[in-house]
Amino acid sequence: MIQDILPHQYDVSFRHAEARAEDFVFIFQKGQALLRNEGGRPAVPTCGEVWARWPEMELTFLFSIDEANIFMAEAGELEPEGLTSHDTQIFRELDPPWLAFAGATASHLAVWRDKTRFCGRCAAVMKPSETERAMVCPACGNIVYPAIAPVVIVGVIDGERLLLTRYAGRVYRRPALVAGFVEIGETLEDAVRREVREEVGLELKNIRYYKSQPWAFSQSLLSGFFADLDGPADIRLDVSELSEGFWVNRDEVPDDEDLSNVSLTYEMIRTFRRLGPDGV
Ligand SMILES: [Zn+2]
Repeated sequence: MIQDILPHQYDVSFRHAEARAEDFVFIFQKGQALLRNEGGRPAVPTCGEVWARWPEMELTFLFSIDEANIFMAEAGELEPEGLTSHDTQIFRELDPPWLAFAGATASHLAVWRDKTRFCGRCAAVMKPSETERAMVCPACGNIVYPAIAPVVIVGVIDGERLLLTRYAGRVYRRPALVAGFVEIGETLEDAVRREVREEVGLELKNIRYYKSQPWAFSQSLLSGFFADLDGPADIRLDVSELSEGFWVNRDEVPDDEDLSNVSLTYEMIRTFRRLGPDGV
């Protein structure tokens, strides 16, 4: 998965770090990532390269991976000469993978910073806290931490069959699992039951936790569960959310080559294919 970067070590503990020429900078402009071109492939600019082009650009330290400090910058209205603008989905496939994970996480923090320029209580300009990863209002003391929205993903199992879905109104057409944001006042298990009931009209038993994944592209934390069907297997589709929901026999579950290694959803689909209902 995108966060599995061993042997590299992600260190998100809060601290201050000086930028060095060899450190990396993720530059964002209007929600897009600005990357340089290295032999036809997108690459991440270093602090040294950014200083050479834009000596005034303010670099914000985010976290480190091994010895590399990772910074973020806002390009604002600057002309991004020499850099190319990419949708942040580029971080699903950037090389090397540890830098792809860094970019995705940086984009999550960039979205948060962009939304916390002004205090939601008194409209004053917010400032980064000196002591923790938070934005603070100097006028009224309001503190805003990075927003991480909890999401559940559910692999619904009926014996040797797995329920796959396709989402309506999205370009992304690969098979998925039932998924949705956790609502206020719900446990993760409540959200699992509600999402499956709403999206496909099925009831569940034996809900069990699988793994979690930070998913920066929706500013969320995904929690993956498997659960067994409890009752009739007839699917009643919520057509506003899903375009398809269908049972697939274990040996017909999509194979490795069709699915990327990046997401928890695909790891869950692959794991069911490999291990079957008793292994998950
Ligand atoms: Zn305020």
